[in-house]
Amino acid sequence: MVKQMNELDKINKGKLEIICGPMFSGKSEELMRRLRRAKIARQKIIIFKPTIDTRYIADNIVSHDGNSLNAFPIKDPQELLAMALNNNASVIGIDEAQFFDITIIDTICELIETGKRVLVAGLDLDYRGIPFGPMPLLLAIADQITKLQAICNICGHDAHFTQRIVNNKPAPFEDDIVKVGGQEAYQARCRTCHVIDKKVYLSQLHR
Ligand code: ADP
Ligand code: ZN
Repeated sequence: MVKQMNELDKINKGKLEIICGPMFSGKSEELMRRLRRAKIARQKIIIFKPTIDTRYIADNIVSHDGNSLNAFPIKDPQELLAMALNNNASVIGIDEAQFFDITIIDTICELIETGKRVLVAGLDLDYRGIPFGPMPLLLAIADQITKLQAICNICGHDAHFTQRIVNNKPAPFEDDIVKVGGQEAYQARCRTCHVIDKKVYLSQLHR
């Protein structure tokens, strides 16, 4: 049966906005910009990041240019859900979302169902060029996606990839997927300058 207009008015769902791209592309900056604007609009905000991201200060999100906002370090997406609902914030920021386990997707869906605006920033690809953790699924269900590019550290063109460097050389394909680091371990690179020692067949990931 078609719902009456006043019934539809009550269904006030939220939305998912994703900011993705390689390291140094300005994801944290853009996330903070949107959160600051929400604050100016007197909306209550709360920010989370996975505990794995130990860059700089434990309870802040910090961009590579040094700006910061307070963020709660979280291990388990269930904990994030409980805190976000208890806190009664209407805008929820999640930085470095690629490091959360796959259940972050259900948590985010739950938040959207209860009317929250969820802002997610994360790496779409790992250093090998493979879609990172929960990001591809999150991107598929997002209402709005902003894909940023950095500047290639080698040639100055737009950078789409994150290059991991070990002992001044490109890291091998078989390295650990997660290694927290900054400019000493990572560079932004364009498609031409990104180096990985094994060809990636993304279709193989879906078998
Ligand atoms: P992300 O969250 O995507 O890693 P940040 O928001 O933390 O990015 O940092 C973006 C900032 O990093 C830029 O404003 C710039 O000052 C700095 N930066 C350092 N290296 C690069 C690069 N190769 N390309 C673009 N910006 C860079
Ligand atoms: Zn390049």
